[in-house]
Amino acid sequence: MATKRARAPQMETDRALAPYRSKRNAAKTPEPMGGRAGKQRESDLPVFVIQEHHARALHWDFRLEHEGVLVSWALPKGVPEDPKSNHLAVHTEDHPLDYGSFEGEIPAGEYGGGRVQIWDQGHFELQKWTPTEVMVVLHGSRVSGRYVLFPTGGKNWMIHRMDPAPEGFEPLPDRVRPMLATPGVLPTDDAGWAFEVKWDGVRAISFVDGGRIRMLSRNDKELTSSFPEFRQIGEFLGARQCVLDGEIVVLGSPDRISGGFSAASIWRVPPRSRSRVRLRRPVTSSSTSCTSRAMHYFPCPTTSGGDNSSRSGSPGRPL
Ligand code: MN
Repeated sequence: MATKRARAPQMETDRALAPYRSKRNAAKTPEPMGGRAGKQRESDLPVFVIQEHHARALHWDFRLEHEGVLVSWALPKGVPEDPKSNHLAVHTEDHPLDYGSFEGEIPAGEYGGGRVQIWDQGHFELQKWTPTEVMVVLHGSRVSGRYVLFPTGGKNWMIHRMDPAPEGFEPLPDRVRPMLATPGVLPTDDAGWAFEVKWDGVRAISFVDGGRIRMLSRNDKELTSSFPEFRQIGEFLGARQCVLDGEIVVLGSPDRISGGFSAASIWRVPPRSRSRVRLRRPVTSSSTSCTSRAMHYFPCPTTSGGDNSSRSGSPGRPL
């Protein structure tokens, strides 16, 4: 069902955009303030845009053209690909139509300060728009399919994918067991084998989903809160879902692993005092005393099956 865009009188648009404009100072932010309508359009279908916004907390702004404005929701975990997993969508103020092409840096200290990038854009077919249900079929380059948004209380809505998950989608496994080194005989032929350094650190399996990272030890102990510095891995990977198998190490002088860091010392310290321990271990480095934590990643070619210890087609670790 293709629904043509309804044209809204300018006065109504201005009224809808009043909250947007009141939050921003046009002299300080590069964001558009909403010009007059009349731009050339490629399609009769309304537009949608999803903007990745690296504000205080990473989120994706989901905007649908409706009655002359972009009706907007902030999605902390992005658009769900899995129909079994609904994502929170916080309803925010209507944005002007020309916001749909905005990318840039909102200065720190301004409303929504941080980097904005277009993550996807395209057109949509409107199937239903009521105060309690917005149903659309998106035609984007990263996201396509039928979605519904519905309120759950106050500004909080949920977004649900109504179509089956896109082809090739694999849900993140709950657990992945890392492949561990075992004693053995070195192969006589090196071809087809990879050698890995035996790092003296903490093995961590990281699950990255919706820009957030969750880290478990090889014994499934929660590591996330012990290593807040690795949150930036989630920020860096954005909407990309993946499992990373790595070893957390403390770097001493360049390219050398320093001592004084062992799994045992992490487990012995209760979570609350771990942050105090961290303060004595600066993440920034200086030329004289250089201590920082780094993650060394092992190849982890699978995100399925929850078991990385017996990968087929890959020889066991020889060391
Ligand atoms: Mn935002």
